[in-house]
Amino acid sequence: MILAGMTLEELENLMAELKATKFRAKQIHNWIYSKSVSTIDEMTNLSKDFREQLKSFASVTDTKIKVKQTSKDGTIKYLVEYPDGECVETVLMRFDNRANLTACVSCQVGCVVNCSFCATGKGGFKRNLTYKEIIEQVLTIQRDTGLKVTNIVFMGQGEPLLNLDNVLKALSIFNNDFQIGARRITISTSGIIPGIKKLAELNLQSTLAISLHAPTHELRKQLMPIEEKYTIDKVKQALKEYVDKTGNRITVEYILIHGFNDTAPVAKELAYFLKDLKCNINLIPYNSVIENDYKKPSSSDIMKFKYLLEHSGKKVTVRLERGADIDAACGQLRGKNK
Ligand code: SAH
Ligand code: SF4
Repeated sequence: MILAGMTLEELENLMAELKATKFRAKQIHNWIYSKSVSTIDEMTNLSKDFREQLKSFASVTDTKIKVKQTSKDGTIKYLVEYPDGECVETVLMRFDNRANLTACVSCQVGCVVNCSFCATGKGGFKRNLTYKEIIEQVLTIQRDTGLKVTNIVFMGQGEPLLNLDNVLKALSIFNNDFQIGARRITISTSGIIPGIKKLAELNLQSTLAISLHAPTHELRKQLMPIEEKYTIDKVKQALKEYVDKTGNRITVEYILIHGFNDTAPVAKELAYFLKDLKCNINLIPYNSVIENDYKKPSSSDIMKFKYLLEHSGKKVTVRLERGADIDAACGQLRGKNK
C-alpha cells in the first residue's frame, strides 16, 4: 500500500483497521504532506513497533526521480518515473521577487491533441496519470528540495480536461491535504468544450487558462488540430458560460510565433475577439522545439503586439521564460530521458 495520495479520512479508516488512534492518522498525514518524508522510518513520532507494523504492508511512495536538471535561472526539472516505467516531467519555478514556488505538473504521458508547436504531442499519447501520480510530482519536488510548493499550474504534459476525473481528485487533495488554496491553482486547456462545461457546473474556483494562440478558425487550425473538433467560436461560447457561472476571470494564453500570429493585424483581430470575454491575456514568446521551424519574435515585436492588445482594455502580461537551457520551458517537455 502506498500512503502518498491518501486523504486524512482514508488514513483514519486505516488507523481504525489497525486499532490505532485517530491521532496517528493526523501525524502520518503531516509527515506525508507537510514534512514530505520519503520513508516510514522518518516518521519519528511514531513508535518503532508501530513503524515496523506499517512497513510490513505499506510504504510512503513508489515514485522515483530518474533525472534532475537545474537551470541557471534556478528552475528545476525532474523526470519522475512510476512503477510501470512510464515517465513524465515536472518543473519547479521560482521567481526572484516573489516567495512563491510554482510547480508545473503533468497529467498524462504524452498528449493526443498534438499541437504543431509542442514537444509533448510529438511522442503520441501513452496513458492518463492517476490522481496519485499527479500529486506525487509535487511531493517529489517537496521531498527533494525540502520546500513547500505554494502554487500549481496544470501546464506540463497532457491535456487536463481529457483526464478530468483524476485532475479534479488531485485538485481536491492539493486543496485539502497540501493546503494550497484553489485560487493558487491554474488549469490550462487547449479548449475541450465538455470539460469547460463540467468545470462551470462545478463552479471551480481555480483559474482556468485557455490556450488560444490565434483569433480565427483559419489561423488556429494550422496550429491546433483540435480546432477542427472544437472550433474557436464554440470554445468562446463555452468560456463565456464558464465566466457567467463562476464569476471568475479566465486567462488567455497566446504563443507568439514570428511572422505567423504576431503581426499588427492579428493583434487587432485578437483584441476584437476578446472584447466581450472577462479575461487577462498572457503572451508566451515561442520556445524552440527542434521538430519545427517556428521562431520567437524579437523583443520589440513582442512589445508592439502587447501594446496593440492593451487597446482592448485587458491586462496583458508577457510570460517570463524559465528553464529553456534545460528544455523545461513551456512546450519543451517530452518526458523522455534524452
Ligand atoms: N495541454 C494544455 C496544458 C499544457 S501546455 C494546454 O495546451 O493548454 C501549457 C502551455 O504551454 C500552453 O499554453 C501551450 O500552448 C504552451 N506551449 C506549448 N508549446 C509551446 C512552445 N513551443 N513555446 C511556448 N509555449 C508553448
Ligand atoms: Fe497537448 Fe497542450 Fe502540448 Fe497541445 S500544447 S500538444 S494540448 S500538451
